[in-house]
Amino acid sequence: MLGSAALALLVATTFAVLLLALSDLRSSTNEGSRSKEVTAATLDLQRVVNELETSLRNFVITGDDRFLAPWREARAAVGPAFDRVEKLVAAEPDELGQAAILRGQVGDYVVNYGLPLIRIVRDDHDPAAARAPVATREGLRRIDGIRRNLDQLLGSEDRLAEAHASSAKRHADNAVRVAIGALAGIGLLLLLFGIFLARGVARPVRLVAEGATRVAGGDLSTRLRGGGAAEINELTAAFNAMARSLEHGKRELEAQNEQLRQSERLKSELVSIVSHELRTPLASILGYASLILKRNFGREDTRRYVGVIEEQGRRLASLVEEFLDVERVEAGRIELKSEPVDLGPVLEEEAELIVGEAPKHRVEVFVRRSLPVIGDRDRLAQVYGNLLGNAIKYSPEGGTVTVTGDLAGDLVRVQVTDEGMGIANENQARIFTKFFRGEARESGIAGAGLGLAVAREIVEAHGGRIGFTSREGEGSTFWFELPRAPRSGAPARTLPSATAAD
Ligand code: ADP
Repeated sequence: MLGSAALALLVATTFAVLLLALSDLRSSTNEGSRSKEVTAATLDLQRVVNELETSLRNFVITGDDRFLAPWREARAAVGPAFDRVEKLVAAEPDELGQAAILRGQVGDYVVNYGLPLIRIVRDDHDPAAARAPVATREGLRRIDGIRRNLDQLLGSEDRLAEAHASSAKRHADNAVRVAIGALAGIGLLLLLFGIFLARGVARPVRLVAEGATRVAGGDLSTRLRGGGAAEINELTAAFNAMARSLEHGKRELEAQNEQLRQSERLKSELVSIVSHELRTPLASILGYASLILKRNFGREDTRRYVGVIEEQGRRLASLVEEFLDVERVEAGRIELKSEPVDLGPVLEEEAELIVGEAPKHRVEVFVRRSLPVIGDRDRLAQVYGNLLGNAIKYSPEGGTVTVTGDLAGDLVRVQVTDEGMGIANENQARIFTKFFRGEARESGIAGAGLGLAVAREIVEAHGGRIGFTSREGEGSTFWFELPRAPRSGAPARTLPSATAAD
């Protein structure tokens, strides 16, 4: 816009200056032709004056009346000749003054010299007196005066014409200079404008077109650099916004795709788990139930078989519970209470419950008497129960399972260590993935690969973290940390760092 405005201004100024110079030139030309007319009219006047003088002189010398005819003609022509000169110099006061003086002199010559002389020759019949040197000298004096003034008028008209001509030349020179300068300026501006258009508009537009081609070819990471005219900036910003939103959309689609693939994988794993994990206890239940129905066992045997049916039933129930938990977690429907919980007693009670079911294991519990957290007691017990259950389940040869519960700064940290089979390095990264069971499936240990996934959701929903370290064949340590509940009122008791529970 600025460039165009400057260009238009320069062009307009150039034309204005050229028009002024042209009008100056025209008025100078008019002046020149007026000057020529003044000169011609003055020369005509000079001719008439000469005619007057010559015809008068001839008449006086010869006394012949024939010479009076040109005298009369000249007299008649004097007035109009003066009128013409005065009309032409009307705008020049000096020259008008000179013309008036001349008119007076010529009138004086005719009335006070020419006519008396003619009268002397014709009426007084005294040509000798008229030809007397005195009279002749007087005539010459008057005519000389008239001629001098006529020359003066011509001279001043010449000077005026010269002044007009040189001012016209000066104006023309100036106009030529201005025109050359302006043309150079316009050329330069046009060049700059062209460069600006090429760099500021054409090039960015080409870059946008190239970018659009790349985007169309699938390269959604294409971004354009801003710069250039404001409209171009808007164009590149809009292009970048479009590319960003396309890229974002593509990423979302890819993520959804991945989720779909994963849920497809989970579904088939679920089918295989269900078929395997549910079938085994169901087969035991059905087998023992039909055995009891078909045969008559003693009271003791019947109790044992019903015990097996009950145990397998519990296993089924806990599997169903795990599936439901996973479903709840996935649907975001897991509901957690938020109340003060002391984890110390929870850890001890759960350990006592499990000790009875693990005759091959020695369970050692070292926990502070008070481990205050805020959360859902049953769900936290479920997490701990899962870690403790796994520690026993995955150390089939027995061994010591050590539980510690302690404070670590603002955290409550619970740790379960076993001396069992451990986890192979290549499986460690996927241990919290749903349905992932690593080598547990091949080793025939029952499970659905869901407990840890649910445990992690619960711990993280409490604002905590869960993790493990493990060495294959040597054992594992699973731990979780929860924010410690803020102290309420009374100062905390100083407790020994741990108490052995068993
Ligand atoms: P599940 O025990 O029902 O298979 P979990 O989610 O509790 O499911 O555990 C997932 C997997 O992690 C187990 O299948 C097992 O391979 C491994 N794992 C868990 N705890 C231990 C442990 N203490 N020692 C060795 N492996 C373990």
